[in-house]
Amino acid sequence: MVEIPKHSMTPMDRYCVFGNPIAHSKSPLIHAEFASLTQQQLSYDKQLVPEDQFPQAVAEFRRQGGQGANVTLPFKQQAFELCDGLTDRARLSGAVNTLYWQGDQLWGDNTDGEGLVRDLLRNGVELKGCRILLIGAGGAVRGVIPSLFEQQPQSIMVANRTQAKAETLAQHFSELGDISSCAMDEIDGAFDLIINGTSASLSSTALPVNADVIQRAKCCYDMAYGSEPTVFQQQAKQLGVSKSLDGLGMLIQQAAVSFERWRGVTPDPQPVYDLIKRQL
Ligand code: NDP
Repeated sequence: MVEIPKHSMTPMDRYCVFGNPIAHSKSPLIHAEFASLTQQQLSYDKQLVPEDQFPQAVAEFRRQGGQGANVTLPFKQQAFELCDGLTDRARLSGAVNTLYWQGDQLWGDNTDGEGLVRDLLRNGVELKGCRILLIGAGGAVRGVIPSLFEQQPQSIMVANRTQAKAETLAQHFSELGDISSCAMDEIDGAFDLIINGTSASLSSTALPVNADVIQRAKCCYDMAYGSEPTVFQQQAKQLGVSKSLDGLGMLIQQAAVSFERWRGVTPDPQPVYDLIKRQL
């Protein structure tokens, strides 16, 4: 074995993803591929964090030379509260999925919305002037609304099983544009794009959305993804919607936005998308 002289060993820049659970996370693989594609020297690990230990885990990671991190469930809101500074979209969405340091200051960004927008545009979905129906009112939906409004859609309707949560979101974002809310089983009207941001697909549950509403859409998008089309994609296909997409593209694109933030280079998402798709 060749011994590497000590002076030629430079410590690698360190990144990680904090979550609980975290074993399922594809982020280490995605970022390793981005690093290889852009010839960046870095390491990226998973960190399982006990639910009451998030601030300590971030501080310890920084003490050990960590330069940036992703944050997933259940810590996105805690990360928001921990940051010294926030990007506009993170401040508006109330959740942080990307951490980085500027000097001693911890900054937070939310790249989910930009990831979704990039994936939609890349797939030829016109967002300017679009009538969007967003189903769900959890963290994912909250995180994407500011970036969707940046694309100047005509309107956004938020529909949720628990209607009060949809109302709260519509009120919270009312200054960004035309946004309204309703209960999921009362959705009516015509929409160009329907985005399923509920976790119903994870349990293979069909959404109780009026077939007419789905039929009229030009595109149905499910933030969930899997080896097969999701239940929502199947619903859309059966009703004749010509374009249905799942959330794998969003996952890769939000990671690409984080990577850009940390490294200042833009990785090509396509080879990584293809790799992860093959592994699902
Ligand atoms: P949350 O737990 O914060 O919110 C869950 C939402 O789903 C709520 O609106 C909830 O409604 C609704 N819901 C759950 N079960 C059902 C059901 N059986 N029928 C109808 N509505 C239901 O989750 P997140 O917002 O974090 O995640 C939502 C989805 O988005 C998940 O599938 C997740 O995997 C995906 N996601 C994908 C990303 C990507 O990069 N592709 C990034 C982030 C999330 P209620 O309020 O009534 O409980």
